[in-house]
Amino acid sequence: MFLRIDRLQIELPQPKDASPDSAAAVQELLGGRFGEMSTLMNYMYQSFNFRGRDQVKPYYDLIANIAAEELGHIELVAATINLLLTGSTQPGDPASAPLAPGVESRNTHHFIATGQTALCGDSMGGSWRGDYVFSSGNLKLDLLHNFFLECGARTQKIRVYEMVQHPVARTMVGYLLVRGGVHAVAYAKALETLTGVNVTKLLPIPEVTNRKFPETRPYEEKGLHRILYRFSPDDYRDITRIWTGTHPEDGGPLEVQDGPPPGGPVPDLPPVPETFAPGFDPAELPEIARKLFG
Ligand code: MN
Ligand code: MN
Repeated sequence: MFLRIDRLQIELPQPKDASPDSAAAVQELLGGRFGEMSTLMNYMYQSFNFRGRDQVKPYYDLIANIAAEELGHIELVAATINLLLTGSTQPGDPASAPLAPGVESRNTHHFIATGQTALCGDSMGGSWRGDYVFSSGNLKLDLLHNFFLECGARTQKIRVYEMVQHPVARTMVGYLLVRGGVHAVAYAKALETLTGVNVTKLLPIPEVTNRKFPETRPYEEKGLHRILYRFSPDDYRDITRIWTGTHPEDGGPLEVQDGPPPGGPVPDLPPVPETFAPGFDPAELPEIARKLFG
């Protein structure tokens, strides 16, 4: 089961401008084949479906624990998309076509299907799909897949970074490049303990260091590329059997930190009256408050 904390894993900057086309590109990192929905659901289903858990518990703990971190990553990418879309249109009389900017934007669904917020889909408007989940039941194969998935996710994050210049998007990608780097090393080390093959020698994929992306620096300077968070009050303690030794790139010590990062506030999204979201008249607020709070 899950506990939920109403915080994002990092504090996102306050956007000065909307950028609906950047939001459309960032959708790939949420609901694309290599997006956060995919890493979340792959690790989630592999943890649900794990056979022989008590015999090889450190691998179960690793996959289950990383799944919990990925849940926070979909929150963070969704918050980014929401901030990029906020301010795309201005309130106005329906006859004045206040949603006209939606016609010129890459993803018209943001303007028709939602109140200018995140969709569970990719940058081309396709839905996230359950068949993106690979859960073969073979531990070596599933770990190899997860290593591949993290490297594919990294490739696509970098390409989106090269596409969008908005500071909210780049802050989010900088953080997720660091955290995805932890996961790629973790799955490589899991394969290494299982098989003796030095999988970390394949890294980085693609062949570019995180240091090329300025937004990774504040997080790497705090050592976040060497920390695996243990996302549970009491469980998944055997991740320390795998997350141990040194980081393959800088040689620093790998550490498990008990509990989640301090994180930052979940941005409060203002109403968008021209989309009727959330759709109540501010004049009704005192009456709603009277019913709720007596
Ligand atoms: Mn992730
Ligand atoms: Mn990951």
